[in-house]
Amino acid sequence: MSKPHTVGFKTGERNIFLHLLTACNLSCAHCYINPKEHGSSMLSRDQMEKWIRLFSHPATQSNIVFLGGEPTMHPDLVHGIEVAKSCGYAVTVDSNGYLFHDFLERVNPAHLDYLSFSLDGPDAQINDPIRGDGVFEVVTANLRKAVERGINTSLIYTVSNRNIDGLEKMAPLLEKLQVKRFFIQVIGLRGKSAAAAKNAQAPLQVDPDRWLEVVPRVAEAVSRLGITVIYPKVFLEEGEVFECAGTVAENFFIFPNGRVYQCPLCEDHPIHSYEIRDDTLVKVDGLTEERFFALDIAEGCVMNKLLQPDTIAYDDSGKPLHRVSCCLLKQRLG
Ligand code: SF4
Ligand code: SF4
Repeated sequence: MSKPHTVGFKTGERNIFLHLLTACNLSCAHCYINPKEHGSSMLSRDQMEKWIRLFSHPATQSNIVFLGGEPTMHPDLVHGIEVAKSCGYAVTVDSNGYLFHDFLERVNPAHLDYLSFSLDGPDAQINDPIRGDGVFEVVTANLRKAVERGINTSLIYTVSNRNIDGLEKMAPLLEKLQVKRFFIQVIGLRGKSAAAAKNAQAPLQVDPDRWLEVVPRVAEAVSRLGITVIYPKVFLEEGEVFECAGTVAENFFIFPNGRVYQCPLCEDHPIHSYEIRDDTLVKVDGLTEERFFALDIAEGCVMNKLLQPDTIAYDDSGKPLHRVSCCLLKQRLG
């Protein structure tokens, strides 16, 4: 059995997550977009170009991920990809799979490092109640077309109690679709899923024992097929050092209203570290997420403790049973 390795935060590596718009044609049950905090605007072509250049540091390894909402709803996404490539970024587009504006026909496969599709089930019975009627069929058909065009594809699966059983059945589908990378994500209690979690009869988040029993086993099975698997660490092992990406890495989560966060867990709150004003990056004063990053607590990630306290269990002496890692810390197989 191959052992997953933890992908530490690389000094100097920059990850830019650029939300081009917040609109989307779907309405997934766990959508993390929060129009109250992230606005409902769309970057203009000119803004998109300027903001891509604003975060460009050609001397360091830089990755840019175009997101939304649904990024292919932006009519100038292909132009954005060309600009990003010319700046030296590794480019990924995270799509819900609908691929608007003839995306596959217009994009140059050589300029797109990965096209990511989201599916939350191995079949329509599991996926469609979460992501919408008919979505499974559209996404798998478009993924096949992307592979035919020579594009590297990834698939993102967001795990909750609604679909963890389906995760076990993903390996044959991934192989059939010729997916190169499989991302397993933990459902975040943000945006719509934060509200859904409050009203749900049963918790949406998978408990630690079930997560640890299922996810590494599925990851191993998928990686045996030659597919790279990346999944969040979530629980630190005894003796593992806790690190907050906000203090040791460079991650920027940028929204079309100009807010720039370093931590995705903070995105439901106006505590962003930076703002883009007149196409310039400005540090925000006052109570921002950075104040939380340095806090050292037994539970590990301080934002998880503040925002999702129900995810932490304690022993009789009050010691947390697990320390929660930074949500940006990943395990990788292959
Ligand atoms: S999760 Fe993504 S695809 Fe689903 S509604 Fe939200 S933005 Fe759209
Ligand atoms: S998820 Fe937690 S550990 Fe990671 S950047 Fe946010 S506050 Fe820091």
